[in-house]
Amino acid sequence: MNSEREFIISCKDKILSGYNITVQEAEKLVNVSDESLQFLSDAANEITRKISGNLVDVESLINAKKGKCQEDCTFCSQSAFYKSGIDTYKLLPSDIIVQNAKMSKEDGVKSFCLVCAWRGPTQSDFSQICNIIEEINDKVGIEVNCSLGFIDESMAMQLKKLGVKRYNHNLEASRSFFSKICTTHTYDDRMNTNRIVKKVGLELCCGGIIGMGETRMQRLELGLDLANLSPEECPINILVPQKGTPLEIQPRLSLSEILRTIAVFRFLMPKTILKIAGGREVYLSSEQEKALLGGANGIITGGYLTIGGNSPVEDFEMISKIGLEA
Ligand code: SF4
Repeated sequence: MNSEREFIISCKDKILSGYNITVQEAEKLVNVSDESLQFLSDAANEITRKISGNLVDVESLINAKKGKCQEDCTFCSQSAFYKSGIDTYKLLPSDIIVQNAKMSKEDGVKSFCLVCAWRGPTQSDFSQICNIIEEINDKVGIEVNCSLGFIDESMAMQLKKLGVKRYNHNLEASRSFFSKICTTHTYDDRMNTNRIVKKVGLELCCGGIIGMGETRMQRLELGLDLANLSPEECPINILVPQKGTPLEIQPRLSLSEILRTIAVFRFLMPKTILKIAGGREVYLSSEQEKALLGGANGIITGGYLTIGGNSPVEDFEMISKIGLEA
């Protein structure tokens, strides 16, 4: 066996013995040759199966308030800064959101995430959201997660009291790349919300987007920062360039680079639910199984915030075809 493969095995064994890999080891892992990529993915899969078993976390989401966001994230078609041409709406009425939660439950989905496109909720928006969560709890009984942008400690505590399980707030990009994708808020603003989420005892869902023009080392930097936050869940989105946004003509990442990133993120976050999210269907197409057999153990089903996706039926079939469970 060549020394590169021996190195991958030594990192895998270190993790399975309960230790973390060092930054230097992570740098070496992310740069393994293309010939060793499948070996790296297989090792990431072994870590996933041994630590988390065969279960795939399947979540659906609703874009509860769409577009006209006052932030300028360059990847986002919901930003009011860009002419993306998407339809927009204010916070949806509770009956539509509750109905969506009900349909998700009937589809066999375990958790339902309420997502809103804004910097953060006003008090009045937040009160409405709290009422909606109570209604979902009463009428549906599905695990509720939220992604409401920047929130303060009292809001986080109220969500916790309402039984919200997980709060999503992505870092989006590495610290060294962040100012290239957003100028209306900072990386530290995002970090701050994540600290509040953890402080009140909500589970943290925190990930990012790859393929926005960052280097491989900046992807690793993001992975290392995420690992330091120890999120319970980490969504990995792959940029799908959106019409009218500054990243509209961003070249696509290769499949091997995506699989390399997923595998290394698994080495960095062995216990985290690593969720392959936006861009899964577009980039991985018929090779989506490779992500779930190469370190990922979660998916978003039924579409995303501004683009469609696989139906729950298709996704559950895919999961069972590769011998995993949902
Ligand atoms: S990513 Fe979120 S904060 Fe940034 S523009 Fe889009 S909706 Fe607004």
